[in-house]
Amino acid sequence: MSDPYESALNFLDSIRDNLPEDYRPYLQRLQQPQNLVQGDLEVKMDDGSMQKFRAYRFQHNNALGPYKGGIRFHKQVSESEVKALGLWMALKTSIAGIPYGGGKGGVVIDPAQLSQKELENVSRAYMRLVAQHIGPDRDIPAPDVNTDSQVMAWMLDEYEKILKHHAPAVITGKPIELGGSAGRTKATGYGGVLALHFLKKACADAYPDNTNGWYHKKRADITIAVQGFGNVGYYFAQTAASEGYRVVAVSDSKGGIYAENGLDPQAVLQSKEKNGSVTAYTVGSAIITNEELLKLNVDIIVPSALEGAIHADNADHIQAPVIIEMANGPITSEADDILSKKDMLTVPDIFANAGGVIVSYLEWVQNRTGLYWKEHEVDQKLEELMQKAFDVMWGKHLELKDSQGSATLRMAAYVLAVERIIKAEMLRRPL
Ligand code: GLU
Repeated sequence: MSDPYESALNFLDSIRDNLPEDYRPYLQRLQQPQNLVQGDLEVKMDDGSMQKFRAYRFQHNNALGPYKGGIRFHKQVSESEVKALGLWMALKTSIAGIPYGGGKGGVVIDPAQLSQKELENVSRAYMRLVAQHIGPDRDIPAPDVNTDSQVMAWMLDEYEKILKHHAPAVITGKPIELGGSAGRTKATGYGGVLALHFLKKACADAYPDNTNGWYHKKRADITIAVQGFGNVGYYFAQTAASEGYRVVAVSDSKGGIYAENGLDPQAVLQSKEKNGSVTAYTVGSAIITNEELLKLNVDIIVPSALEGAIHADNADHIQAPVIIEMANGPITSEADDILSKKDMLTVPDIFANAGGVIVSYLEWVQNRTGLYWKEHEVDQKLEELMQKAFDVMWGKHLELKDSQGSATLRMAAYVLAVERIIKAEMLRRPL
């Protein structure tokens, strides 16, 4: 697979001609990241030995506000990966219209091999490495792949120990008891389903005569396949099913299941928690592979696992007319070229999965004001922000389509996100 950061930079470069002329020289600021903190965490293991794990915190751009982005624990973490993810965070917060820049963190580790105590030791060691580089007005981490509210709790506690005072707004995705927000755990998946509602309506309005279009079907007839059953994939599947869509397939790293009449994601989760994989769920479903899931003849596929799931070798076999990118970077640039020529609609990650960081923002606001909202209030604020972001992205998409004949939603989202960052750069440090 191509280098993730290099591909991210290449795509950024490809939007140049769609930017106003006086903005173009500023693009290089977004191609030159601001700061990378890295080091080896020295962690005490249960057997008394000390082990080293490589760790990163990358700060891409902060023209619009403090750096913001999650911390991932995964054996595939690399400098190039955190840099690509950090750049995407800067674009995500910008398109979402929230007052942040972008960053990302990661530790090269397989958390499945660790005990709870070892995981706690890694989390605290990570915070000691980055504490002097972050803060509620400087850089605000959050959960990402394999990190959850418990990991955020350990990190917060370590940070407050170093500072000797409370500072809940330094990190988001915390447990409710430590200042977390109602609705944060489900937010990314829930936001993805909001994106689906908005897309369905926008397509139905834009193409009223195309009666075969998926967007004219009833929700119960719209078939969805979700790849990945972690926090993001599960809540997407669960919300979509409870909102009346037909989730026919789900998968995790061990494989997937398919049921033509639809699955009950909650029941699948219970079975996964007991048996270790969704494939243990056998009520009316057949076992499929992750590759087969992506190639299903469904209306919508939702890659919600890691980068690069859709690549040059499988892109041609994708049949679904719509892809909602709930993972970050699930489509490689080569695959993206293939898919956009096939007239497929991809809802780009920087918008589709922005629900998580939007509710992180709402959590940060609650921490700073000391006033806490109920879940339905958080959901409503999330919906307003997602709707606003969708409307401008869709508007830009139609505008670019009119002027150029074709334009992806990704192009529209990138142009808008970059324009906002460059506008802030111009106001701060004109060339
Ligand atoms: N890790 C999530 C993302 O990739 C959330 C980041 C955040 O809440 O800061 O968008």
